[in-house]
Amino acid sequence: MYQPLPPIAASYCTDLARFRRRAIIICSRWRRLRAYCPSVTGPRLARWLFLAPLAACAIAMLAACATSTGVPYRMRAWNRAFPPYRVIGNIYYVGTNEIAQFLIATPAGHILIDSGFEASVPRLRENVEKLGYRFEDIKILLSSHAHIDHVQAHALVRRLTGAQVVASAADAAFIAAGGKGETVFDGVYEWAPCPVDRRVGDGDLVSLGGTTLTAHLTPGHTRGATTWTMQLTDQKRALSIVFFPSANVNPGVRLVNNPRYPEIVADFERSFATWKALPCDVFLADHGPFYSMHEKYDRLRAGATPNPFIDPQGYRRFIAEAEQKFREELQSQR
Ligand SMILES: [Zn+2]
Repeated sequence: MYQPLPPIAASYCTDLARFRRRAIIICSRWRRLRAYCPSVTGPRLARWLFLAPLAACAIAMLAACATSTGVPYRMRAWNRAFPPYRVIGNIYYVGTNEIAQFLIATPAGHILIDSGFEASVPRLRENVEKLGYRFEDIKILLSSHAHIDHVQAHALVRRLTGAQVVASAADAAFIAAGGKGETVFDGVYEWAPCPVDRRVGDGDLVSLGGTTLTAHLTPGHTRGATTWTMQLTDQKRALSIVFFPSANVNPGVRLVNNPRYPEIVADFERSFATWKALPCDVFLADHGPFYSMHEKYDRLRAGATPNPFIDPQGYRRFIAEAEQKFREELQSQR
């Protein structure tokens, strides 16, 4: 069953809301203290002694939210270790408990979809090596979309492996600018800017060692969100693979009269049309819960056949639900 993730903006807002609640509690206690002990609380110095640590906490908290190398507080629960495993064919899972990353292994080197957080790169390397591959053999680095949990480590992975960074033109701008100018999280989340070696458009192909991926531009969640597809043969069965990049409307994002992204609704509409038209046998996505990763992984380990990641109905159901949520959000904003 599809379980929605706590969205990034919600995390940020929740952090602020928690901070606000605490500030309100402290202020009400302060008022009570003033009522009982005006001699202690009256002097200006005492007020500064109270306000200065509060201001310092607020600044530290905002800095932590906008960190360029750390993992934002609310995303830590998504970033726990998960065992790497073969999904199907030459596709391997090398991500965390919730943030998916895929290694597509070929005889000419490997393709990695999403770099994740910088702090997790040692674990990413370990995951690749546990599967019997060399981290340095990653030749191409792709992205689902330019948000911090998927591209923060792009510059580091590029530096460590020499991989060619490939991204859609719209997301390439944000990846190269370290998140600056991004439609939703500009000024909230930043990362080390990463040069983009190749910009792809709709239908462009990325090939390595006999594997070819196709880029489908599916904007909305970000301006350059990209759905990657590929074909493979598993147990003599030809399969279409979809790497889905997120379609949720982050909290606070305006669908109507959004000056930062005026064409957001038209983009989502086109993307849903694309997703509905794509052939899909194996449904994979940038966050595990989108495609019930844990449940399918357990069944895979238990020896289920056919491979539980072959789930065309699950894909159709997920897209229908995502579209329904989008329409409800649009309706509520009109
Ligand atoms: Zn995102």
